[in-house]
Amino acid sequence: MSRASPTRISARIEKRTTVDAPAEALVKVPLLDLQLQYSAIREDILAAVTRVCDSQHFIMGPEVEQLETEVAAAIGAGFAVGVSSGTDALLVALMALDIGPGDEVIVPTFSFFATASVVVRLGATPVFVDVEPDTLNIDVTAVHAAITPRTRAIVPVHLFGLCADVDPLLEIAESHGVTVIEDAAQAIGADYQGRQAGTLGQLACFSFFPTKNLGAFGDAGMVTTNDAALADRVRRLRNHGAERRYYHREIGGNFRLDALQAAVLRVKLPHLPAWNAARRANAAGYGQQFEQAGIAAQLRLPQQPAGRTHIYHQYVVRVAERDRVREQLTASGVGTEIYYPVPFHRQECFAGVPSAAGAFPVADAAAAEVLALPIFPELGSVRQSQVVAALAEALR
Ligand SMILES: *Cc1c(COP(=O)(O)O)cnc(C)c1O
Repeated sequence: MSRASPTRISARIEKRTTVDAPAEALVKVPLLDLQLQYSAIREDILAAVTRVCDSQHFIMGPEVEQLETEVAAAIGAGFAVGVSSGTDALLVALMALDIGPGDEVIVPTFSFFATASVVVRLGATPVFVDVEPDTLNIDVTAVHAAITPRTRAIVPVHLFGLCADVDPLLEIAESHGVTVIEDAAQAIGADYQGRQAGTLGQLACFSFFPTKNLGAFGDAGMVTTNDAALADRVRRLRNHGAERRYYHREIGGNFRLDALQAAVLRVKLPHLPAWNAARRANAAGYGQQFEQAGIAAQLRLPQQPAGRTHIYHQYVVRVAERDRVREQLTASGVGTEIYYPVPFHRQECFAGVPSAAGAFPVADAAAAEVLALPIFPELGSVRQSQVVAALAEALR
């Protein structure tokens, strides 16, 4: 078998490089390169930022209102309320349902930290459940088993950009009088049975953290809903519970969205469908190239069940000897990440959560095997081939 050592891969690439260009730039494939996206829309971004600077209106205001209208229209939601981050979107969504001490909220044990931490911050109890082996999304059967008279909400996470199987969850929720809050932080533009992420539950939470598929230039988030009363409540809670300035009907927080972030997001939003399509094309490219390289059998690839559109916020494969493979990819200049190395039931800060004592074999197995590969829209075929070659090398 002919083998290309990492050094030989670099040597081949360097030959293509002109004398002046730094070889590094071609050899390295970062997990994500935000510079490429920025350079393509730089003029529009700077114009939008200038517009806000010239207005000297920095908090809320017309940019935020227009972004809310545009996001609601883009995903088909009745209402969208801009907030300060994805974490605050989750927090304020729970607050809008008056979730607190004595209440239980069912969350998958395999997600980003904020999905569970907001529940604890409000004095409620997260109830961890396992995920499905194929999608790593919340396991519907496990949700069924976890429902108690204290359950107030279920939070399906559309992990890595694939919607959770929401319809059966909505049925469970309806029959028990509980609310479904989507954690759609990774899934703007994903769809499920013809409906978009952010319109599936009673409330949904988006993050515009800079590395998300739609990323601001700082922290930002949004809550969407079709329920006018819930939208009003979220709007009030994001601004200290005040409807009118200095008249507080209840205690909220400062969860407001900056005009600068809204203006940046308004430039980016129209590009989102093309960026998501490019991520999907990259994912299809990986599938084909892993076959060609003869390594498909050694990888468990992300799944896209019928009726759902995966938007690949992350392209996460599962592989044996993950840590060794990752080290070798790092040595070959390929950026990777582990989402997530520690499920909630194993987090030190959740040791006191009763459900943490349970068994979550699927999440534990996933935590040991998951590896995110570069999937950003501007990846391109040269860089993608480098990733595949480096991975093939690591698996030989
Ligand atoms: C990013 C993320 C969040 C939190 O969003 P922030 O904007 O970083 O606060 C919540 N849940 C999931 C699944 C995420 O990926």
